[in-house]
Amino acid sequence: MNKLIHTSLVESQQHVEILQRDPSSPLFSIKTFEELPLKKELLQGVYMMGFNRPSKIQEQALPLMLAYPPQNLIAQSQSGTGKTAAFVLAMLSRASASEKYPQCLCLAPTYELALQIGQVVRAIGKFCTDIKVNYAVRGNRVLKGTVLEEQIIIGTPGTTLDWCFKQRILDLTKISLFVLDEADIMIDTQGLSCQSIRIHRALPKSCQVLLFSATYKEPVRAFAERIIPDPIVIKLREEELTLSNIRQYFMVCQSSDEQYKALCNLYGSFTIGQVMIFCQTRRMADWLSGKMSRDGHQVAILTAELTVVQRASVIQRFREGKEKVLIATNVCARGIDVQQVTTVVNFGLPMDQDGEPDFETYLHRIGRAGRFGHRGIAFSVVQRETVPLVHKIEEYFRIFSAFPCKRLSQGTW
Ligand code: ADP
Repeated sequence: MNKLIHTSLVESQQHVEILQRDPSSPLFSIKTFEELPLKKELLQGVYMMGFNRPSKIQEQALPLMLAYPPQNLIAQSQSGTGKTAAFVLAMLSRASASEKYPQCLCLAPTYELALQIGQVVRAIGKFCTDIKVNYAVRGNRVLKGTVLEEQIIIGTPGTTLDWCFKQRILDLTKISLFVLDEADIMIDTQGLSCQSIRIHRALPKSCQVLLFSATYKEPVRAFAERIIPDPIVIKLREEELTLSNIRQYFMVCQSSDEQYKALCNLYGSFTIGQVMIFCQTRRMADWLSGKMSRDGHQVAILTAELTVVQRASVIQRFREGKEKVLIATNVCARGIDVQQVTTVVNFGLPMDQDGEPDFETYLHRIGRAGRFGHRGIAFSVVQRETVPLVHKIEEYFRIFSAFPCKRLSQGTW
């Protein structure tokens, strides 16, 4: 979903790490697109997109992805850092327009993402007029016996398997580039990783494999290594969240009504930037959103029950400033980069199943207020019985020693 909502490049100060490399392959990075072996139609496409220079991950990944002989690669970086644009460039480079059969196969975990990747292919490949795309996704019916002429196939694992083994219209033995996007999501979604592995097994040995993931934790690593033994792994170090630029305040209230009043007082003073309010449960988020709307506040709500597309649209509206307040459950505690968010409110503290503070979620929630080193402010509006959790948070993050922390009672802020 993060990918669906990133409309501009996430600026990263972090360095790219090469975790594993093939000692025989010279590793170099590029600073301009001209240094790459790209045909001129593709360079034109890149400039049409407004890309002046490669992003951090592209600097390292593109030379490897376009190298001869082709190299297998695993690239990990958060969404919005330019991975899709990179593998789209690789597909458009590898596809031969004069050959009318599928040569590049890209798997994505969802229908929406597959279509979005297709849009990027069309945009960057604007001047590669003879390269065509087809989508192996649900709803795109093709008759048995169809001869696929498109050079690039983008699909979800299920339908792609169907096209390969049931309908037998997609011949995997002629695929020379296989891209697996969002490998971490594939692993989290039942069935997708097994389907991807089945597809991968039917590819020719010489097929280049590129795997992308926003994270590179153990399950992804194990999955990746089943598909690509001994891969080159490049990794954009995860942005380290720091709390030093975020002022944190805790506010202790007697009841949920008082919490609500405190929030409304706060709301009145949000004059700059935008606010994200986090609730622990969907019920609480619904209740708060209903109450604030009835009181005439314009709020948006983001919970897990929305479809991916609905969520992307809520975030897009918020990003455009159509709503100033976004109420959310933990679905988007991490990953959402709306630069204008200067204030985060915890309407209750994040807790784990044992009723202990969920430090990681707390960090990611309040981290929304201080993106890219901007100054932010975080208010936690809590009830009296959760005060011990406040202490634990203070202790855990050493807020007292390192960062300013004020505990305020209602009405004094
Ligand atoms: P990811 O796949 O890592 O989520 P994308 O490739 O979708 O990232 O890129 C995120 C956004 O940044 C997109 O809007 C894309 O058009 C833009 N983008 C990608 N590469 C560049 C670049 N080199 N310069 C400027 N913008 C870029």
